[in-house]
This record gives sequence, C-alpha cells and structure tokens, in this order.
Amino acid sequence: MQTQPTASHFINGEYVEDTSGTPIDVIYPATGEKIATVYAATPAIIERALSSARAAQAAWGAMTGTQRGRILRRAADIMRERNHDLSVLETYDTGKPYQETSVADATSGADALEYFGGIAASLTGEHIQLGEDWVYTRREPLGVCVGIGAWNYPTQIACWKGAPALACGNSIVFKPSETTPLCALKVAEILFEAGLPAGLYNVVQGMGEVGAALVTDPRVDKVSLTGSVPTGRKVYAAAAEGIKHVTMELGGKSPMIVFEDADIENAVSGAILGNFYSSGQVCSNGTRVFVHTDIKEAFLSRLAERLGTAVIGDPMDPATSFGPMVSKRQLDIALGYIEKGKAEGARLVYGGNAIDGDGFYMQPTVFADVTDDMSIAREEIFGPVMSVLDFTDEDDVMARANDTEFGLAAGVFTRDLARAHRVAAKFQAGTCYINTYNDAPVEAPFGGMKNSGVGRENSKAAINHYSQLKSVYVRMCDLEAPF
Ligand code: NDP
Repeated sequence: MQTQPTASHFINGEYVEDTSGTPIDVIYPATGEKIATVYAATPAIIERALSSARAAQAAWGAMTGTQRGRILRRAADIMRERNHDLSVLETYDTGKPYQETSVADATSGADALEYFGGIAASLTGEHIQLGEDWVYTRREPLGVCVGIGAWNYPTQIACWKGAPALACGNSIVFKPSETTPLCALKVAEILFEAGLPAGLYNVVQGMGEVGAALVTDPRVDKVSLTGSVPTGRKVYAAAAEGIKHVTMELGGKSPMIVFEDADIENAVSGAILGNFYSSGQVCSNGTRVFVHTDIKEAFLSRLAERLGTAVIGDPMDPATSFGPMVSKRQLDIALGYIEKGKAEGARLVYGGNAIDGDGFYMQPTVFADVTDDMSIAREEIFGPVMSVLDFTDEDDVMARANDTEFGLAAGVFTRDLARAHRVAAKFQAGTCYINTYNDAPVEAPFGGMKNSGVGRENSKAAINHYSQLKSVYVRMCDLEAPF
C-alpha cells in the first residue's frame, strides 16, 4: 500500500505541500521502519487553512441541515466501501492489529458521519409563548472549529470532531497527532469526494506548536482536544484567553469493580477489553481492576489462561489480536511503569517484558496486590498494564474507586441488579458500564468528569458543543418606557 500521502496538508479542497516545515517521519510501529514523511505546517500553511475555513463557513452554515446531512451520509457510505484500505492505513499509522482496525476505526468514523448527517436536518430552535409576545430560539453554528487529535484513534477522532462540527454548519481545521498524521488526510479526501465544499474540512500537520497557533488565532471560535490532562490544561487556558468554546477529551485511570457474584468469564472479558485492546492505549481503559477477595484467585488464574491465548505478532495478519505500542517512547513509558510497579511492591502475575525485535512490542502485563497509593494505581500509563486491587466492602471500594483526579469511565461487574445501578449512580465518571466495558456507540454521550474533561462527544449532546443558541424576543404590542 502507498503510505506516503500526496502531500502533508489538505486545505481548501486540495493537497498542499510546504517542505520548509519541520519534517515528521512516520514510523510503522510493528517494524520501526519509516513509511512516510510529512512536514509540519509553517505559519503560511496555518494562515491558508484558517482563512479557507473562515471564508467557506458562512455559505455552509446558511445551507439547510438536509443538504449538509446528505453530504455527510454520502461520506459515511464511501468510508464503509473503503473500509479495508482505510483499516490497513490505520494499522500502518498506529500499529493496531487489522483485526481491530477493520471493525473499530473507519467503521466508527462512518457511524459518526452517518449519525450527525442524519441529525443535521432536525436541528431546530424552539418557540416560547409569553402571553401575546413570544421568543424563538435559533440554533446557530459557532464558526471555525479547531480539532486536535491524539494518536490512538486517528480516523475516529478526525470523524468524531468533524462530523458534529460540519452537521451544525461549522468549518474545521484538524491537526492530527504528529505520531499518526496519515488517516485524517483520507477523511478529508472522502468528505470532498462526497461533495463537501472546499475549505470546510482542512487538515494541517505539526507538533504542539501548530496546535497552539491554531488555538490562539482570533478567527477560531471553538477548540476540541483529545489528549492528556497536561495538554488539556494548556489548551483550555489558551482558549480561555479568547473566551472560546471548548471540548476536552482527556486522560483517565478508570476503575472496574468485580463483585463476588459476577460472572467471572464476563468480568475477565471486560478486563481484557478494558486493558489490552489497542495494546492498552485507550483513554477510557479500566486499569484499576478492583476484585472481591472471594474470587480474586479464580479471576487471576482465568485471566492468565486467557492472556496466554493472545496472538502477538504481525498486525496485518488477521489472526493477530495484540499489536505493538504506537512508538518507542510510549513503549518506554509503559516499561518504566512496570519497573515502578515492581519497586513499589506489586506482584507481577503476567507479562512484564518488552519483546525482542525492531517493533515496539511488549507483553500484556498484570500486577496483583496493587494498593491505592502505588504509581501504577494513580497515574495514567496508556499501555497494557493492568492493576488488580483487592476489596471486600462495597462502600469502601466506591470511595477508593472515586479517589482519583480523573473521571472518564468506570465499570461494574455483578449479577445484582440493584447493586449495579447503585454503583453506576455513585461513580464519578462520565461514561459508565454495567457488565461490559469500553463500548462507545455514536448514539451515547462520551466524555469525562473531573480532570478527564469538559463537554461530550457523540450523541445529541455533542450538538450543544458545536452550536450556540440565539433567542429572539418578539413584542406584539406597543412598547412602554419610563421616560
Ligand atoms: P498529548 O496530550 O500529548 O497530545 C494531544 C494532541 O495535542 C497532539 O496532537 C499534540 O501534538 C497536541 N498538543 C500538544 N501540546 C499542545 C499545545 N500546547 N497546544 C495545542 N496542541 C498541543 O496526548 P497524546 O497524543 O500522547 O495522547 C494520549 C492522551 O490522550 C492520553 O492521556 C489519553 O488518555 C488521551 N486520550 C483521551 C481520549 C478521550 O476521548 N478522552 C481518547 C484518546 C486519548 P503532538 O503530540 O503532535 O506534538
């Protein structure tokens, strides 16, 4: 497959190059080989992207929702038709196994385009009768949005931000992570092929400085970031200078509680999905697995058996179920946490090592006997490192589960219906699961509480974050004034 893109950026409906920007090598995580080079956006490229986005927005915002939605739905169809090629590219960009990318990335992007394409025609204001007078509200676009992506789901993030932004009548400039610059360009290509007018979906490459330049530009009305909490703090503060709208999808250290009455097989499945999918590089992962002491050893032994069946290897092989980390840097971070876990006294029960070779592979890793104060239980690792903690009492485990700066996700496994809902209600997290983990359908709001974020992606809730309400008071009789 051709992995070198036509050019680094996609602006005003066409590929654009400027080789005077800093070169960014794209590395295939499975082999460490360079598969493409793109160039970071120069000030001239950033200017071109923002002025195109600004110029194109008004006409797009004035179209009917039906017209806008039709284009997004057509783009969804094209994405689905090209699922294989897009999935292969996602695998090159991230290293995630084709077994995952073929069902979770372009498909999820297409779902977002289809969902927001479908909703576009039904975006309305309301009528509020006040005696003879009345107020009506208009739901209006924000203007120019900036999307900044993390590297774990490059296609999905480009669509989760682009689809609601466009449905609401905005334009967008998207900056992918420098680690995974390839997939968003394909999203832009597809949108234009589907009939999106030029200038509405632009992609510019670059590091944090490019993101920062976009966020502070006075022409930008909204910023949506998917990234870590430290970056979120910086971007939120920069957006605050211009009183811009924000959506912050940030990190997590989410709890998963497995009660003594849980179906152990399902709970193990949840722990696997919530710790090792995408080699653990998922923001909402349930990396603090609290297991009731009555079933702890049964849970751990079944988990180890199931982990032994993971197929680690060439991500392009459809049989492979566990791929490399996205980068050497991310691999080293995860391995560093394994050393910390050992030094702090956790019991290594599975994995724990890098896998020899040129790719950035490591074993799925499980620590047991983890205590709340250990670094591996407090800090986001963003790698395949699961911490198993013991508990016996529901109130106690709830307090411990919520004792974190993060609040992205949380899960509970139990057969007790009342307990499941009681626990879900008490979780301080934006996205909760009962007897499952990490499902993220476009119909459901997704986002975090506490330091994990502000705003929600997906679902009807996202509309509130990509549009603004104007109210218009209409007086039907003469107007009195004091003088
Ligand atoms: P980072 O926070 O390092 O980067 C996120 C994006 O922000 C990148 O495109 C980065 O550019 C850019 N950036 C960095 N500094 C600035 C700045 N000052 N101004 C504007 N943009 C900037 O996150 P990672 O890419 O390492 O992704 C992992 C993190 O993302 C984890 O914490 C994870 O939990 C979180 N995440 C959250 C999700 C959610 O929905 N809540 C989903 C997925 C991931 P570059 O890196 O190219 O320099």
